[in-house]
Amino acid sequence: MTAPEPRKVEFYRHDLGEEEMASLSTTVHSVFLTTGPRVAEFEKVLGEYLGVPHIVGVSSCTDGMMITLLAFGIGAGDEVITTPMTFIATPNTVLHVGATPMFVEVDRDTGLMDPNAVEAAVTPRTKAILTVHLYGQMCDMRALRAVADRYHLVLIEDSAHGVEMRRDDVGPGTLSDAAVFSFYATKTLTCGDGGAIAVRDPAVAERLRRLRNHGMTKGAASRYTGIYRHWDMVELGYKCGLSDIDASILLPQISRLERRRASRESAVCRYERLLADVPGTRLIRRSGKSSHHLFTVLAPPGRRDELLEKLGSARIGVAVNYRAVHLLTYYRQRFGFSPGVFPNAEEIGERTLSLPLYPWISDDDVDYVADQYRRFVVDGGS
Ligand SMILES: *Cc1c(COP(=O)(O)O)cnc(C)c1O
Repeated sequence: MTAPEPRKVEFYRHDLGEEEMASLSTTVHSVFLTTGPRVAEFEKVLGEYLGVPHIVGVSSCTDGMMITLLAFGIGAGDEVITTPMTFIATPNTVLHVGATPMFVEVDRDTGLMDPNAVEAAVTPRTKAILTVHLYGQMCDMRALRAVADRYHLVLIEDSAHGVEMRRDDVGPGTLSDAAVFSFYATKTLTCGDGGAIAVRDPAVAERLRRLRNHGMTKGAASRYTGIYRHWDMVELGYKCGLSDIDASILLPQISRLERRRASRESAVCRYERLLADVPGTRLIRRSGKSSHHLFTVLAPPGRRDELLEKLGSARIGVAVNYRAVHLLTYYRQRFGFSPGVFPNAEEIGERTLSLPLYPWISDDDVDYVADQYRRFVVDGGS
């Protein structure tokens, strides 16, 4: 007889199934696979969901942020104010267009970029603010919009952590110049890899459509349907469109977004109740309506890595979102950062530990994970 498998709780599980298979099947049985009618349909549906007029589907949030910076003319010699408490993609895209990311401190309780710190960091070279809605909680977009207006800056949202969030009646894309989303494997809306940009200005949307397709004046859909017409190349673009295959997987999920969010929210509430009094552990302060992309706790100082190890060994999926970017080797070497410049971001970076969270995670699994976490904190799990 073989021993039963020890219990395992995945960090993330998608809930894609029959609806996505049926939608994908329609696309596979059609003529078009690349950026075409399904992408257009998805862009329309997502735009209606967000209440933003123009959506441009792209291959990833990273590529989307890069062409967004280009579309707003940001490049060499420009500074972009951003947060060190994010995934490396955020500042990396700024470097890729030749500009300089200027990190600012985050709020100690939420990890979100502090609008006062943003204003204090503005210089004559500042061209844009690139903010991040960490874990699915929105930044104070009204305050950031006011700063952007005061100094004539472009305001861009790295909204990789969700489309579902709201704060002060504002959602991603409603106050900014552009919001960029990720449909990477673990995000709240996913097709494995993909992204989208939400913009209000039709001229910017048109430029983004060109930049995602080599700078060509015609996309594939218009080149191959009807009679051949010459296209032109009017600027240097990239190849980073969303495909009809990806769009067909994304489309059926839109109607489930709210139910899935509610399911993650109830898991988060359960975690919060169970973990509120674990010694030395701090929870992220809630603000607004979160997409609940990640559930992160701040482990007792100095013990995060030990807890990662123990939870991992107990077959519980864990992650770190994120170690502060400015202290990663490349950024230290290139910009000369050393510890102590952004104490709040650094403290979160040293203590943050993300626990399993996904739609339909069972109460039983949440109870088990919380119980194991508490046990490892309290008695080292011995
Ligand atoms: C996932 C993520 C990205 C990158 O998204 P891709 O679609 O993989 O390029 C960017 N920023 C943040 C905050 C993320 O979590």
